[in-house]
Amino acid sequence: MITLRLNHQQRAFLQMVVDRDGVLGDIGDLVRAAVRDAPDPAPLTFPAVSTPPARTAVADHLLEPGTGKAVEVAAGQVLRIVQLEGHQCVDLNVFTLADRRERLHVGRTRGMQGPHPAPGDVLWSNAPWERPIMAITGGNATTDTQFPFCSRLIYSAFFGLHDRTNCQEIQNEAQREYGLGPWDIHESLNLFMHTAPGPDGSPVIRRNLARPGDYIEFTALTDVLAIPNVCGDDLSNCSNFNLRPVRVLVEDPLAEDATRARAARDRAVVLGLPQPRDVPDPQPLRRDPGYVADFPYLPLRPADVQVDFDESRFHQVKNVPLYAGDDAAALRDLTLSWAIERLGAFTGND
Ligand SMILES: [Zn+2]
Repeated sequence: MITLRLNHQQRAFLQMVVDRDGVLGDIGDLVRAAVRDAPDPAPLTFPAVSTPPARTAVADHLLEPGTGKAVEVAAGQVLRIVQLEGHQCVDLNVFTLADRRERLHVGRTRGMQGPHPAPGDVLWSNAPWERPIMAITGGNATTDTQFPFCSRLIYSAFFGLHDRTNCQEIQNEAQREYGLGPWDIHESLNLFMHTAPGPDGSPVIRRNLARPGDYIEFTALTDVLAIPNVCGDDLSNCSNFNLRPVRVLVEDPLAEDATRARAARDRAVVLGLPQPRDVPDPQPLRRDPGYVADFPYLPLRPADVQVDFDESRFHQVKNVPLYAGDDAAALRDLTLSWAIERLGAFTGND
């Protein structure tokens, strides 16, 4: 017996598909159809394993599923975001501490560095500043600049679901610690998100390739407030149909970090930046000492389902390279994949 391990949001989604379908009697019928119809898994190429150097941590946070954390990173310090269980997409917003109006501009970063920024690239801020504010100085994470954060809109428009974990509201709650409002959220840099051109050339989200220990490192080029959050999407390839914790560290730099950051910046601004203009009335960011985190839609409750199905067929089609011995995760993947296709929802996934 393999348990279909779900959270309550996912179970509500499957029940909605059953209710709309008209042919399926219950979730058990849905699982049996999903196992019967499952395609052979596509081959995967994982990023090469990378090991970070030992540094001294000045901050160390565990980000639980459905949460995010605003962390100050002083110029020269290293922000490291680490996979604990693998499979988890992380969204990142960045603001400068000196002026909340200066923030990461994902479109400019994509234009200057390409769709998948990697070690040796920099993150650009918005106009009128338009300058590198962080350098990617290590790690093996896949990245993406093409997909906007998941929001209330996405789940309503494409899944008919409301009031469930999403990056928009997780980010809002995390950045509230520094007095930033819902209108301050900017397009995210997507970390540990695996995207590639689809059949017509448009980008599609593919299964997440992150493994335990995979990481990405940024060296701050000015004092920033970095806000990573665990992506709230449990209905797509983006995080392989689950939410999992990640670790976020701020570390004192080694000499090699400064060298790498300088090299990335120099490469990005070969012929120089424009003369900075005075921007009146800077609006510095400060932590609200009274802040108490209150992330919406938590806790995610277990909502497992026991189902009899053709296990020999399941063992033929389960995605072993991705899930190894975790049959429950493989079953959840193929069940939710089938249900999403059945719903006919456009998800941006393949
Ligand atoms: Zn998300």
